[in-house]
Amino acid sequence: MATILPSPPRVGMVSLGCPKNLVDSERILTKLRSDGYQMSPDYAGADVVLVNTCGFLDSAKEESLEAIGEAIAENGRVIVTGCMGKEAETIRARFPNVLAVTGAHQYEEVVGAVHDAAPMPPSAFLNLVPDSGLKLTPRHYSYLKISEGCNHRCSFCIIPSLRGDLVSRRPDAILREAEKLIAAGTRELLVISQDTSAYGVDIRHQPRPWHGAEVRAHMTDLSRELGKLGAWVRLHYVYPYPHVDQVIPLMAEGLVLPYLDIPFQHASRNVLKLMKRPANETKVLERIKNWRTIAPDIAIRSTFVVGFPGETEDDFAYLMDWLEEARLDRVGAFRFEPVEGAAANALPNHVPEEIKEERYARLMELTACISAEKLQAKVGRTLDVIIDAVGEDGATGRSKADAPEIDGEVHLRDAGHLSPGDIVAVSIEDADEHDLYGVPL
Ligand code: SF4
Repeated sequence: MATILPSPPRVGMVSLGCPKNLVDSERILTKLRSDGYQMSPDYAGADVVLVNTCGFLDSAKEESLEAIGEAIAENGRVIVTGCMGKEAETIRARFPNVLAVTGAHQYEEVVGAVHDAAPMPPSAFLNLVPDSGLKLTPRHYSYLKISEGCNHRCSFCIIPSLRGDLVSRRPDAILREAEKLIAAGTRELLVISQDTSAYGVDIRHQPRPWHGAEVRAHMTDLSRELGKLGAWVRLHYVYPYPHVDQVIPLMAEGLVLPYLDIPFQHASRNVLKLMKRPANETKVLERIKNWRTIAPDIAIRSTFVVGFPGETEDDFAYLMDWLEEARLDRVGAFRFEPVEGAAANALPNHVPEEIKEERYARLMELTACISAEKLQAKVGRTLDVIIDAVGEDGATGRSKADAPEIDGEVHLRDAGHLSPGDIVAVSIEDADEHDLYGVPL
């Protein structure tokens, strides 16, 4: 006689914030699936809803509180986790009905809270987890988190107080996870952390056995080994330490994508000092030139803060000149926003909002112009493109210079026969400020 299993509880998930938070959400869901829970794509079908919050900026906190409010209104049974878990009192004051509040990376606590809120019926005995874990990103690319926390103390940032000092994962564990992801269909690994170039500092770069040899817990060694697995490897959140130079030859060899995401934040010495970040911007310009000699196709993405307290017109003009010379491929900018608990709030000489706006507009105009010129130079070339989505006739994808979500896209015509995850050679026919247009060969 067939055994009729009671249907397991269903969990809804709202994941806010950065890719690092997305990875946490994936881990939580993977654990819940392995415990037998099912996922609900909507509020109505969920027995309990998890809201994984972001507390980086005040605007992100407000967005998190709104998401909690929406989940309570729509479902009523809500567990809050993530960065805002540190502010349990604020959350409980506004939403006394939340079932539990847990902090970032407290996987066991949040999973325990789900077990309390929606207990599993006794006979869910199947292993429901696919080998790659459960993913919220499309199957063909995956975020790979290599460490947690940060040893820096940038004055505008509260991440170290939310997430603590750097804690690196073992290199063999990261590589094993990467192998599983690739076996399950991942064709692009996006390496993330708060500070990728600091990887392994906390564990003194200790080597671990890996496939009959040893691999050090060091960005260079890890990148090389990841590169050997056969997927695209993209490095994010790289702090410009001198040893970053060592990964550029790996890009020239084709082991790692010629792409570096380095949040420079500013170029003026004065502002960098106030931000408590290293101030060696002229050396950085020389290094960028050198990187381009070794790996001519390298795409450099960065973010900058304008209107930081104490930023003078001269500081901003210096940043603009620096950007003209650096000719970065992709630039994101933020107007400085005081974040509760950040040291920068106490700095003198805050910049008036209208000046922040005006500087932001000037910076965006310059960087859009540089981006358009750089993309125009790609017209007529053949580039490898990874396909993200396919329509009836066309498709969208990304070149090696484009990370998902944050950079541009390549729009393809006559590409309805392709599938997400395909990597194809594309003849580039046109370009605008952010995107390329082409046809598969
Ligand atoms: S390096 Fe990044 S995470 Fe670390 S303190 Fe600075 S801004 Fe925050």
